[in-house]
Amino acid sequence: MKKAIITGISGQDGYFLSKLLHSKGYEIHGVIRRNSSMSVGNLSLLPEEVRSRIVIHYGDLTDANFFAKLLAEERPDELYHLAAQSFVGYSFQNPSSTYDVNISGTLNVANAVKDYSPDTKMYFAATSEMFGQPDIVPQNEETPFKPRSPYAISKLAGFWTTKTYREAYGLFMANGICFNHESEVRGPEFVTRKISLAVADIARGSNKPLELGNLGARKDWGYAEDYVEGMRMMLNSKEPDDFVFGTGEVHTVREFTDEAFHVAGIPIRWEGEGIQERGVMGNGKVIVRVKRELYRPLESDNFLADYSKAEMKLGWKPKTKFKELVKLMVENDLNRRD
Ligand code: NDP
Ligand code: GDP
Repeated sequence: MKKAIITGISGQDGYFLSKLLHSKGYEIHGVIRRNSSMSVGNLSLLPEEVRSRIVIHYGDLTDANFFAKLLAEERPDELYHLAAQSFVGYSFQNPSSTYDVNISGTLNVANAVKDYSPDTKMYFAATSEMFGQPDIVPQNEETPFKPRSPYAISKLAGFWTTKTYREAYGLFMANGICFNHESEVRGPEFVTRKISLAVADIARGSNKPLELGNLGARKDWGYAEDYVEGMRMMLNSKEPDDFVFGTGEVHTVREFTDEAFHVAGIPIRWEGEGIQERGVMGNGKVIVRVKRELYRPLESDNFLADYSKAEMKLGWKPKTKFKELVKLMVENDLNRRD
């Protein structure tokens, strides 16, 4: 039986990866940081048969000793390093803690593998945000990086740590350069889930309009379940390498919002421009407003994934299209009972 450690198991990707590895018969260990309410995030949403089999280790990314001990004791076959301060907007407000967790934290994990379990294969969760404002469209593994947020800078440091350790020490360490991926368990501050939650509330009669920032921001959005398959494929291929995962389709925040209201049976029309733009229902009720404070100090743009290397070398392809993604997220929130 293969043994895997997942950092960030309580997050979105940890949820889907746990389900996938369970279905493949892995022994799963997850790292969780302690909090005062002892909540375990998305782990609590996993089916009991999966959750009850996960061995939990309490520890923080910033604790090098914790990872040294964990790797020395468990010596897993695979380590999926997903934990991070993952919110771009927050990284502008708190760059130092983003660097501590994402840069020093990744160094702690990589050093623990190098020093205590060098046969462990390690996946690092890199990101399309590293491309920033690319001149070349679509982006692949050869596209130059031009990060445009503290988050992207921190992930670029993690990317290079992973690549440098692979080349310097002959370790199996690999970067997944994932474009945005979303789901019904996506954190509520990310724009897609913020939209699906608000649309569900409005469909239930709420009068509170959905407040958004840059409606014209464009992203390559896929379904998280597809992406965790790519992660496992990477660690089960012969050679460690870096891969882009995305859909090759781009949509604006406005299009996502439009489609989400459509799924809920609420037709929306757009009026005005820029900060004055509003989404209005047939009866004139304003259901979407633009709020200047929700704009980022710098926007990354021009994203479109060229995932042909993953397709050719791993046999990976996204299965879920944009409209299906919006539908499953909105329907999930419409059916929520809390
Ligand atoms: P989430 O934000 O849902 O999950 C992040 C996880 O990291 C949570 O389990 C969180 O724990 C944990 N974590 C944060 N800080 C620490 C810390 N100091 N010590 C230990 N654990 C910590 O992210 P996703 O699942 O969406 O993404 C997984 C990874 O992929 C992240 O690294 C993200 O940056 C990267 N990525 C994601 C993309 C996406 O579109 N989803 C795109 C490209 C890359 P807690 O529950 O306690 O907060
Ligand atoms: P990110 O791509 O990892 O930063 O994921 P987000 O979901 O946070 O943001 C996706 C895009 O939506 C970015 O270009 C944001 O600027 C844009 N956006 C527009 N309005 C909002 C909003 O209200 N919240 C968030 N989180 N993003 C918004």
